[in-house]
Amino acid sequence: MVRSGGRKGNGCVARLPVAILSPMSPASGFSPNLQHLETSATIAISQEAKRRKAAGEDVIDLGAGEPDFPTPSIPADAGVRAIRGGKTHYPANEGILELRAAAAKHLSLLSGGRPVNADNIVVSNGSKQSLFNVCFTLFGPGDVVAIPAPAWVSYPQIVHLARARPVLVSGEPEWSLKVSVRDLDRVVPGARGLILCSPCNPTGAVYTHAEIKAIAQWARERKVWVIADEIYRRIHYGTGPAPSFLDLPDDLLERVVVVYGVSKAYAMTGWRIGTALAPGPVARAMAALQSHTTTGANHPAQLAAAAALGDERVEQDVARMVAEFRKRRDLVVARFRQELPGVEFVDPLGAFYFFFRVDSFGGLSGTEFCTRLVTTSGVALVPGAAFGDDRYVRLSYAAATDDLLRALDRIVAFAKKLGD
Ligand code: PMP
Ligand code: GLU
Repeated sequence: MVRSGGRKGNGCVARLPVAILSPMSPASGFSPNLQHLETSATIAISQEAKRRKAAGEDVIDLGAGEPDFPTPSIPADAGVRAIRGGKTHYPANEGILELRAAAAKHLSLLSGGRPVNADNIVVSNGSKQSLFNVCFTLFGPGDVVAIPAPAWVSYPQIVHLARARPVLVSGEPEWSLKVSVRDLDRVVPGARGLILCSPCNPTGAVYTHAEIKAIAQWARERKVWVIADEIYRRIHYGTGPAPSFLDLPDDLLERVVVVYGVSKAYAMTGWRIGTALAPGPVARAMAALQSHTTTGANHPAQLAAAAALGDERVEQDVARMVAEFRKRRDLVVARFRQELPGVEFVDPLGAFYFFFRVDSFGGLSGTEFCTRLVTTSGVALVPGAAFGDDRYVRLSYAAATDDLLRALDRIVAFAKKLGD
């Protein structure tokens, strides 16, 4: 955590003008499956920003974690060719072999050539469905699933849908809000599962190799299933891809499922392709589950994803986009350091999120801050409440640089006024 003191502010409370963070509160008569269901705040905010723009308002959306870049031409062309070539029939439940083989080779190369078996990979409609499949396969009533917090908004929801119990484990402020095995032992001694996201949405923090290894050892000793969400692995501002569970020896991976996907680093959010690499029996169960829900992921999109992961030339596109994210990250950090020196934030080392603290503005909550910011200054951000800590706000810099610069001007002016 980067810190340098606090700021003053007025504590005026604004009412939410939009349906941010509104529970769906299932009407009576709906299944208890939905008893904890809330609309995804990240999706709701981005839709609200789009609605305001369509109504003619000047709103800049730094809410959504969605790259502004077009899909690189090699996977895009592969998708078009697949449609033209008649790859428009049901795919295999677990995903087509071309994609599973490309993903296996790709994950192997990212981790120094370690063996990765394509038979253990299941392809789904976005890594969101991969996460759902894993949780539904492994967890059920009575199970506790530990989730380091702040946490991406969908994890607790997905665990609830499996009728298991999510328990948020707060990360340490002095340690970029990451958790240690001590924190896990203290809060969830009997957990059956752990969902760990690195690089982390919403903080941008990255677990080191040693930290990942310590957590893997902890999990092995306690027979805890680890779901490692590594969808942001390529968006890392250190050297190479971010450290991964796949960098660990096999004996630490017996109860680990690694979730990966093309949405973020390949700018392919709308293609909806994600993967899970799991021990054989788990992979087979997930494929069987999927055979009764979606039958498998969109067939042409799987061929596009196979080109993204399998064609070496796409690496240049990834490198170009990551370099651009890095520049934007530097811009945001520099502006905050120079113009809002009292505001604390997590040092962003990966993904494309900047997570900063707003309670120093006279005790303002993240929800109040975001509500007033969007209403008075036309910038949409996501309140930390969506991630389990409303002292913070998340800014996504996966937006065009011009928009980012204009939004930063507005945020800085807004925050300075609060601090007066
Ligand atoms: N995991 C994390 C941490 C995310 O931020 C997202 C964002 N959508 C996902 C999973 C799901 O991504 P997708 O379904 O587009 O692969
Ligand atoms: N993961 C992105 C985010 O956090 C996209 C929206 C979502 O799926 O939640 O903004």
